Amino acid sequence: MEASTSERPAAAEGGVAPMVRFDRVTKRYGALTVLDDLQLDIAAGEKVAIIGPSGSGKTTVLRMLMTLERIDGGVIWVDGEPMTHMPGPGAAGSGSLVPASQRHLRQVRGKVGMVFQHFNLFPHMSALKNCMEAPVTVLGLSRKEARERGAELLSMVGLGDKLDHFPGQLSGGQQQRVAIARALAMRPKVMLFDEVTSALDPELVGEVLTVIRKLGAEHDLTMIMVTHQMGFAKEFADRVCFFYQGRIAETGAPAELFGNPENERTRQFLSAVL
Ligand code: ADP
Repeated sequence: MEASTSERPAAAEGGVAPMVRFDRVTKRYGALTVLDDLQLDIAAGEKVAIIGPSGSGKTTVLRMLMTLERIDGGVIWVDGEPMTHMPGPGAAGSGSLVPASQRHLRQVRGKVGMVFQHFNLFPHMSALKNCMEAPVTVLGLSRKEARERGAELLSMVGLGDKLDHFPGQLSGGQQQRVAIARALAMRPKVMLFDEVTSALDPELVGEVLTVIRKLGAEHDLTMIMVTHQMGFAKEFADRVCFFYQGRIAETGAPAELFGNPENERTRQFLSAVL
């Protein structure tokens, strides 16, 4: 039965509810089922790497968490709050959740920050302004507070001397570090990274991974990363999820999943990419 889709995430054995829960989430584009009854819990502070073949639904998982695009079934919970809800009464499997207000949805969405493959910086704004824009317009910070926060974060990602540079004056790796600082300026609880090194020249990958590594070590952030960097996933993640056709075909600690995969699909994928 579908009853579980309308219940708050239960505390796990250890007594802590998950930071993120996909509860039987289905997403379709026309006839194509991209996420198929997905069940996934991510604990607060957990670092999860999502790997899998192209088209398996990895990016869709992040986009559903970020954009509030309507899902076709199930519920996504963030920090104990439902982000999305089932279609209205009468639809198959509908839950009893009351549709959240726009204001409530904005609050929940504010807990999630995302860094994209192609940086997506505002090209006409300096690095610092890029980091100030949303805290001022969305969170209502004063310009002074936003400037201080932005400068601090840009220093943290190693760009304290580039506050006034525009994206076009920065390397890809530097732009991606600005994008990380910009997402952090919203003080999210969950950070999503979507193939953040794929568009970079090989010599620039390391500086971005170093920043992500540092973030993971120094902050209690929940981090979910879609990546093709198997070496980094192995070293960085607490848990790896291998996606295949919109489902998690296998999940486990990196040492187990990379060292001794149980699923035939995982084995095939790893032998092709490693
Ligand atoms: P991955 O990140 O694993 O490569 P995606 O999550 O990006 O896969 O996409 C999963 C599937 O959904 C792909 O077949 C893709 O073509 C399809 N898809 C993604 N977004 C859309 C969309 N807006 N409209 C139609 N199909 C889409």
